[in-house]
Amino acid sequence: MMARDDMRGRAQTVLGLVDPATLGPTLMHEHVFIDLTPPPLRLNPPSEQESEIDLCNCWGIAYGQKQFMRNYRLDETDVAIAEIQDMKAAGGGSLVDLTVGGLNPQPDRLAEVARATGVNIVMGCGYYVNDYQSPANHTRSADDFAREMIEQITVGAWGTQVRAGIIGEIGCQAPWTDLEKRVMDGAITAMQATGAALNIHPGRDADQPLEVTEFIRARGQSLERVVISHIDRTIFDDDRLLRLADTGCVVEFDLFGWEQTAYPMSDIDMPNDGARLKMIKLLVDKGYREQILISHDICTRTRLSRYGGHGYQHIFANIAPRMLRRGFTQEDVNTILVSTPRRLLTLA
Ligand SMILES: [Zn+2]
Repeated sequence: MMARDDMRGRAQTVLGLVDPATLGPTLMHEHVFIDLTPPPLRLNPPSEQESEIDLCNCWGIAYGQKQFMRNYRLDETDVAIAEIQDMKAAGGGSLVDLTVGGLNPQPDRLAEVARATGVNIVMGCGYYVNDYQSPANHTRSADDFAREMIEQITVGAWGTQVRAGIIGEIGCQAPWTDLEKRVMDGAITAMQATGAALNIHPGRDADQPLEVTEFIRARGQSLERVVISHIDRTIFDDDRLLRLADTGCVVEFDLFGWEQTAYPMSDIDMPNDGARLKMIKLLVDKGYREQILISHDICTRTRLSRYGGHGYQHIFANIAPRMLRRGFTQEDVNTILVSTPRRLLTLA
C-alpha cells in the first residue's frame, strides 16, 4: 500500500510514480480501452451480424445515422498502441484514461500499452453514470465507495496491482440520481484522503455543472482540483460558462476532433473545433487561463485514425498550431496542454 507521504508531489501512472515534470503535453480525458455500449443494447443486442467499419459506412456511423455495436468498444491492443504512437510522434507525452466502473476498465492492458509506447498513461477510478451500474452498486454507501476509490489509488484497481492517479470520470445524469450523489460523496472523501484530482462527467443539462460544484463546495472542498468534463456538449452560453469558471473549477473542452454538429446522445447542436476555440479564447481573455483543459474523449472506434477518425494525435498536430493562428500565445498553449495537466496530476 502506498503511503500518502510517498505519493505527495508525484504523479501516478499505470507503471508507477513519476516526476510530474516528465509528463509533457498531456491529454486529460481519453479512453484507450472502453465498452460504451448503451445499457438497452447490452440487454438486447441486435441479432443480425453487422459488417466491419469501412470507408463506405464510417461517416454514417460517426454521424449517428446507423447504430453499430462494434463502434462502442475500444478493445484492440495493437490498434491502441499504433494510435498512441501517432500521438507521441505529433508531440504528445502523456494521456489520461478515464474508463471507470461500468465502462469495463482494463488496467493491465493500459500498462501493456504504456510499456509498448513509452507514453505515460494515468488511469482514473470510481464509477460512471447511474444507468451503467450493476444492481449491487445501488445499495452501497458513500463510505463504501470512498474506501474502494482510496484502495484503487493506494493499492490497485479492479483486481489488479495497477494504481489509479486521478478520480473519475465520476458520472452524473440529469436529473442527478441518489446513487450518483453517494459516489460523488465518496469521491470527495477519496480526494481529501489521497490528494488526487477529481474529474466529473456532468449530466446533459446546462445547469448541472453548477449544481455539482455547489454540492462539492458544501462538503467543504475547494474546486481548484475539480475538473468538469464535456463543457462543449453541456454549456452553450457565455454567461453560464463564466459563472462556472468563477467557482474556481477547471473547465474541460474534451470533444476536440468532433467536427460535425450532430450529437446522437441528445438533441443539441455540437460546436466544432473552431467554435470550441472561440469559447476557450473568451475564457483566456477573461483571466481564466489556468482553469482550462482540452482533450478528445475518444470513446468510439470511428474517432480513431484507423477507422476514419482523427485519433489521439489531432490536438498536437492540428489544434495547438491553430491556436497560435487564432491569437493564443505559446504560453497560453503551454498552460493548457502542459502546466494545468501537471498541476492536476501531481498528488497533493
Ligand atoms: Zn470520457
